[in-house]
Amino acid sequence: MEKDVLKVGLKSAGIELILFETGETLGQHIWSEEVLRETRGEFIFSHLLHETAVSLGAKIRMGVTVTGIDPETRRVKLSSGEILTGDVIVGADGATGVSRRLLDMDDEEPVHRFNCYSTVTPKSIAMQDPELAPLFEPGVNRMFSWFGNNHAVLSFPMGVGEREAIAMYTYGPKDGKEGGWTDTVDVSGLKNYCSTAESRLQKLAALSPNPPACLPIMSFPELEDWVHDSGRLIVVGDAAHPIPAGAIQDAAMALEDGAVLAKLFSHLRTEDQIETLLYAFQDLRQPHCQKVSSKELHDINFMCMPPGEMQEGRDNVMRGKRDAGLNVLDASGDQEEQAEWAEIKDVFGYDAEDDADNWWMEWGLLRERARGTDVAGGHVQPVAVMQGVSQAYAP
Ligand SMILES: Cc1cc2nc3c(=O)[nH]c(=O)nc-3n(C[C@H](O)[C@H](O)[C@H](O)COP(=O)(O)OP(=O)(O)OC[C@H]3O[C@@H](n4cnc5c(N)ncnc54)[C@H](O)[C@@H]3O)c2cc1C
Repeated sequence: MEKDVLKVGLKSAGIELILFETGETLGQHIWSEEVLRETRGEFIFSHLLHETAVSLGAKIRMGVTVTGIDPETRRVKLSSGEILTGDVIVGADGATGVSRRLLDMDDEEPVHRFNCYSTVTPKSIAMQDPELAPLFEPGVNRMFSWFGNNHAVLSFPMGVGEREAIAMYTYGPKDGKEGGWTDTVDVSGLKNYCSTAESRLQKLAALSPNPPACLPIMSFPELEDWVHDSGRLIVVGDAAHPIPAGAIQDAAMALEDGAVLAKLFSHLRTEDQIETLLYAFQDLRQPHCQKVSSKELHDINFMCMPPGEMQEGRDNVMRGKRDAGLNVLDASGDQEEQAEWAEIKDVFGYDAEDDADNWWMEWGLLRERARGTDVAGGHVQPVAVMQGVSQAYAP
């Protein structure tokens, strides 16, 4: 998909860190070519999944919801009354969906401190304002991050051609306006968040022609098991590891889940491998995703630090690097590189598909050999598909 993604997406050049209230630039960090090469990472903003899934044979039912799942009989009931049965149920229905509830034995309430307003403004509108235009000049493609007292903003350009736009996520203390991604709220809450902000943010907040969405930023308790006891239901994406709205790794985590699951299931030859492969997915993904989700929550707290010693320390370290002409997250002199940058490199250096391949070489083949399976050539021989996988059918 890389070529198609690049046609509609933008490659980020770096990030600029700014104070929310005053507009002072604390510094910038340009992604070095070397780091991007080493981590094989590019920050690309785009959406292109539906067409690919359909072209690969996925059947998508629009306008119906799942009203119940029985993992033991592997049945899924739809609001239309239709019942689907499959060999494996992959619950990708988000943090508050039916699937996660089947696995969440503790029923612990998530912690909710912040909300996030999301707006998208056509670039042509923002470029008419002389104060905003320099932020989004052609070729800049930089992300901006404003740090404030219990408030923060992330903003970045997105789309190409006529769809060029500026995305803006504005974080602040929960204000009772929260809903879902498809709900909109009036702009007053967003304007209220930005009432103490520098003038560019106040303008950006008022410019969007469409009302914002307001999302709760929740810290969910970690789910102990991603695989149901039946061995036939697994949760992926936000259903397994909810990540806060606007997080950099938001979509990437869900995509990586899909890639790892696909890699693992490419080794499926017999039905009795299913449970092992699902647990392999959990073993591979759980530590990584939980680390990334908590880092993303940490980033919001880092950006929203209230005034005090820690906030002053954060800002002064960055000012020092800015004044020395350094990338703001790099190491300098006796100062180590910012933990945030080390984590970014770690996350981008991680290759989900390599991880899945390594699991197969280290554990998958071993297990097959122990069962006396012929694994000459690195995969199960002979191909003995006992039952078609993932072919949903109405009973
Ligand atoms: C419409 C939409 C727009 C988004 N836009 C942004 C954005 O701009 N920025 C950002 O940071 N994040 C956004 N997100 C969140 C982001 O997509 C996810 O956090 C992340 O990509 C993980 O994806 P996911 O597929 O696991 O979960 P989600 O994206 O939450 O998708 C879960 C899907 O399951 C569906 N679903 C839930 N319950 C049922 C049911 N009972 N029956 C049938 N379907 C069900 C939901 O409608 C949703 O489409 C958006 C999510 C949605 C749904």
